[in-house]
Order: sequence, then structure tokens, then C-alpha cells
Amino acid sequence: MEKFEKKQQLYEGKAKKVFATENPDYVIVSYKDDATAFNGQKKGTIVGKGVINNKMSNMLMAMLEKKGVPTHFVEQLSDRETVVKKVQIVPLEVIIRNVAAGSFSKRYGVKEGTKLSIPTIEFSYKCDELDDPLINDYHALALNLATEQEIARIKELAFKVNDLLIEFFKHLNIDLIDFKLEFGRFHGEVILADEISPDTCRFWEAGSWDTEKHVSLDKDRFRRDLGGVEDAYNEVFKRLTEGE
Ligand code: UDP
Repeated sequence: MEKFEKKQQLYEGKAKKVFATENPDYVIVSYKDDATAFNGQKKGTIVGKGVINNKMSNMLMAMLEKKGVPTHFVEQLSDRETVVKKVQIVPLEVIIRNVAAGSFSKRYGVKEGTKLSIPTIEFSYKCDELDDPLINDYHALALNLATEQEIARIKELAFKVNDLLIEFFKHLNIDLIDFKLEFGRFHGEVILADEISPDTCRFWEAGSWDTEKHVSLDKDRFRRDLGGVEDAYNEVFKRLTEGE
């Protein structure tokens, strides 16, 4: 197997650093414990988050890859570091929702925990200065953010990921409320990139979404100052690894 050597840092984001390797097709991501919310206005640390998100995201990407979803995952190097394919990120945050929560509930006046009649998809334009505004397919095309074929493929993959993740988490007694995906271009193909973790998904204790008091096992514990943030990340990870 190819040996991957960490070269210069290419980028530092809110939750990860990215390093070059000798191979131009691959980069190494390093997960931090830093947590931010509300476009960076709220900052904090979730101890051990980087390790959990790294391992969890890799397990989920490997599972998805096996089921036919192309992903950027290549090889886990250590607790916090993973080799991934170097993609050009499509500047869209792709959000799938099964149950109303967060900004959807606020925007449309729907009580959190209301089951949606069908899973929904929405796009935000990835742009911190503009606060990641909601956009539609036509806007994305008009702004040359992606092609029509890419958008069609992204939708197809995102809904497939939803079906697979719902089923996967059901076995762990967790309801997948909503999540955010990012896609990238790699040698002309659209593949799943970024991460899938409690930072990017809403995980609720099974069945608790139809009660007033759902139990969040995700970053909402940090966003909403609910306490037990580390415990929630640890709990999801424990269930994920117990099943192995
Ligand atoms: N999300 C994310 N990054 C973002 C915005 C949202 O990972 O920058 C995830 C979030 O964790 C949730 C889903 O996308 O699982 C939908 O988030 P929503 O639009 O409701 O925004 P929020 O209420 O988190 O501001």
C-alpha cells in the first residue's frame, strides 16, 4: 500500500486542517476539537470530537462506498488523520431533511419534530461572507456553481445516502432528522466529500421526535447550550462501534 507523507498545510477550516501529500490526488485531513456555530459567532471546544468525527465519518463513508456511493475516503492514518481524495468542492451545502428542525422549522413555522411527508432537499451557497444563503437549482446554474448534470447527480446521491443512513442509524436506536452533505469533483466525477458526523447531522434518540422533549445526540447540544455535549458524541460513537 502507498505510504502517505504529510507535507505542507494547504488550508485550515473551522473543524479541520488539510495537508498536501506527495501524491497530487490525495490530501490528509486532520480533525480538530474546535466547535463553531452560527457561522463562527459561537466558539468552543468539544473534547475528543476530532477523534470521534474522524472515525465516525470514515466508518460511514466506507459503508456508503460499499453500497455504491462514491466517496472521498481513502485510508485512516490515525485517531485524527485520514487520507482523502483531493476534490474541488462544489460550493453547495446539500441539506436533506426527514423531520422538521432548526432553520426549516423557523423559516416555515413548523414545530420541531414534525415528520415531513417526503424527505426534502435544499441547497445553500457555501459563502461565509453571505452567511451561506439558501438558493435553488436555477440560482446555482445561473451562478455557475454546478452544471445541470452535477446537480441531478448530487440529488440522486444525497437521497440514496439518506435511505442508507436512516436504515443504518435505525439499528442504533437513532432517528436521522436531517444532515448536511458536501460533494466534490474528482477526475470528472461527483463524489461525496467533507464529513458525516454529529457536527453535520441531527441525531435524535429513537422515537423522541414526536414528543415535545426530543433527546439530541449531536451538535445542537453545543448550539443550544443543552449540556452533555461530549457525552452525546461519545454515545453515538459507542453505539456505532458496538455494532461492529
Ligand atoms: N448543518 C451543517 N452545517 C451548516 C449548517 C447546517 O452541518 O453550516 C447541518 C445541521 O447540523 C443540521 C442540518 O444541516 O443537521 C440542517 O441545519 P439547519 O439548516 O436546520 O441549520 P441550523 O438550525 O443548524 O442553523
